[in-house]
Amino acid sequence: MNVVLFGPPGAGKGTQAKELSNHYKIPHISTGDILRANVQDGTELGNKAKEYMDKGELVPDEVLIGIIRNRLAEPDCESGYLLDGYPRTIPQADALSDILTDIDKPLQVVLNLDVPDEELVIRLSGRYVCKCGNSYHLTFNPPENTGICDTCGKELYQRDDDKEDVIRQRLISYHNKTHPLIKYYGDRDLLVNIAGAGDINEVFDSIIHVLDMYDLT
Ligand code: ADP
Ligand code: ADP
Ligand code: ZN
Repeated sequence: MNVVLFGPPGAGKGTQAKELSNHYKIPHISTGDILRANVQDGTELGNKAKEYMDKGELVPDEVLIGIIRNRLAEPDCESGYLLDGYPRTIPQADALSDILTDIDKPLQVVLNLDVPDEELVIRLSGRYVCKCGNSYHLTFNPPENTGICDTCGKELYQRDDDKEDVIRQRLISYHNKTHPLIKYYGDRDLLVNIAGAGDINEVFDSIIHVLDMYDLT
């Protein structure tokens, strides 16, 4: 199954991708997670990316294209892939198409999680994350024990870029550079819109419903 999970910051891509990856046994590839791991490890790539991430801007295309090319070449992608947070610009989408042709794993569907901006701000400002990749919300998806990850027991924290001014900038970057991909993938008959405003389980059920209809292998 070769899928892109698309949507604005806070739409629920990471939350759904984690569940879908377990359900369909395909790797969840989050460029945000890969960049944050590099920032954490203080790599050259991470130091460069951090300047942009802290401001809520997109990291330059050539950096992301290199990351995704390497990641898709790893053996676990033999069974397919679930991309989360990539592509975010038209040049990234064009590069993806070339990479996927090279490895003979064409994209089958782009799921667009549709959520209104004001809901996104509420979701992102209440988001708490874990190093293991889990994402929680103070109100909508609280952990069993306050401040502690249900899965791995580590302490939860707020991301540096989940502050209101950076959130606003991320939404601006989304509308200017990422939103045009909806038309791009619509023109290629790959786009399916999913109402992302319901609760987490409802959204999951809608996604499964669509993917099972496609009968992807
Ligand atoms: P969110 O889950 O809130 O949408 P991500 O974790 O996907 O955020 O991304 C966090 C930040 O990492 C982005 O604001 C951006 O700076 C950078 N980033 C992640 N993916 C990409 C990408 N495909 N292109 C450019 N920048 C990216
Ligand atoms: P993205 O990866 O698209 O930036 P996340 O999956 O990290 O988004 O979700 C953003 C925030 O919204 C998190 O705090 C998450 O717990 C919460 N969230 C995710 N899906 C829903 C939903 N359907 N309803 C309410 N809150 C949600
Ligand atoms: Zn955890």
